[in-house]
Amino acid sequence: MKKNITKYILYSFIYGFLLGIILNIFQDLNNDVFNFFVTVFDFGGNFFLSVLKMLVVPIVFASIICGLFGLKDFSSLGRISLKTITVYLITTSLAISLALLVSYFIQPGLGTEIKLQTGDFSIGEKPSVLEVLLNIIPQNPFKALVEGNMLQVIFFSILLGVGISLCGENGKPLEKFFQSLNIVNLKCLEIIMKVAPLGIFCLISKTFSSQGIEIIYELGKYFFTVAFCLVVHMFLVYGSLIKFLSKINLIFFFKQIKDAMFFAFSTSSSSATIPITLRVAKENLKIRENIASFTVPLGSTINMDGTAIMQGVATVFIANIYGISLMPSDYISVIVTATLASIGTAGVPGVGLIMLGMVLNQIGLPLEGIALIIGVDRVLDMMRTATNVSGDIAVSLFINHTEK
Ligand code: ASP
Repeated sequence: MKKNITKYILYSFIYGFLLGIILNIFQDLNNDVFNFFVTVFDFGGNFFLSVLKMLVVPIVFASIICGLFGLKDFSSLGRISLKTITVYLITTSLAISLALLVSYFIQPGLGTEIKLQTGDFSIGEKPSVLEVLLNIIPQNPFKALVEGNMLQVIFFSILLGVGISLCGENGKPLEKFFQSLNIVNLKCLEIIMKVAPLGIFCLISKTFSSQGIEIIYELGKYFFTVAFCLVVHMFLVYGSLIKFLSKINLIFFFKQIKDAMFFAFSTSSSSATIPITLRVAKENLKIRENIASFTVPLGSTINMDGTAIMQGVATVFIANIYGISLMPSDYISVIVTATLASIGTAGVPGVGLIMLGMVLNQIGLPLEGIALIIGVDRVLDMMRTATNVSGDIAVSLFINHTEK
């Protein structure tokens, strides 16, 4: 990615944050001015987000297919898939275990006086393993493309890519078509990147102008426990994957992926960030096309370590607020449910909180507890999405290393 774009993204990030906070502090001074800015930033942010999302399906579709053209040995596909899914599940279960362990010692919510509220909360549906597996196969691949069903798009793209490669000369016209589509997609992304600093500025100022940061103090123990676990998980689990298992310098890694982290933080969506994640994985970290184009979209769909961490800490927090003590079997139940939930969590803003309902329900905690943490969830969503995306890249790097 061009160096000065990265610099502008960083500036827009800082200025957006400062302006947002200033607007939030002075909002009562002149409500009309405040509303005007929020409307403008909301429009700018959503405009940018829509443009970014527009590219996700064409990029994933074409790059997976193209990644398969150079592959000589198709049997490696099964091995890579199995390895990737296993590592994703292991990192997620480590994430939730870490969150529960830290929360056990910190006990967020204990001694906190919070007015209990009632509300209407829906529970995320608990995916059965067989249902998840069956859902991967699109009955109509065009519908999967239109709806952007990522797992189905990945499945169809792999089949199509293998089919085209096996057809030899007869497959050449399609091969050329997809290679051209791949190049054009990246060009479109390059064009969009030119307005990225402005889009990020709008997204960040909108969030912080309407969010404010006082609520973070009120729920400080919960907020900082989640933040602490996110950082520890990144350095401990991803750090080990990167430094010891992939033999890459940690500072170099985070420097290379910072654009993807900025995008994830600003958009709160691993799915909308896919084009940037793919780009930094392939261009900056030199992860091979056939690996990155599969592991990155898959990760942004099934790998949600940051989300699992929030769910772990939130469970202990809510249990403490309601004075319910958790049994060892509850902890195990939370680990299993949150790991499974992460597969079913779409990479879009706020879904982690809906899936939390499923985890709470599993161990009999009141769903109203969600109302207690909703106020800080916007900022935590940004932070956990950045963690989710870093995890996708760290695992891709590791898989790339093992396939050398
Ligand atoms: N926003 C998160 C993501 O896209 C999902 C969540 O935790 O709500 O990765």
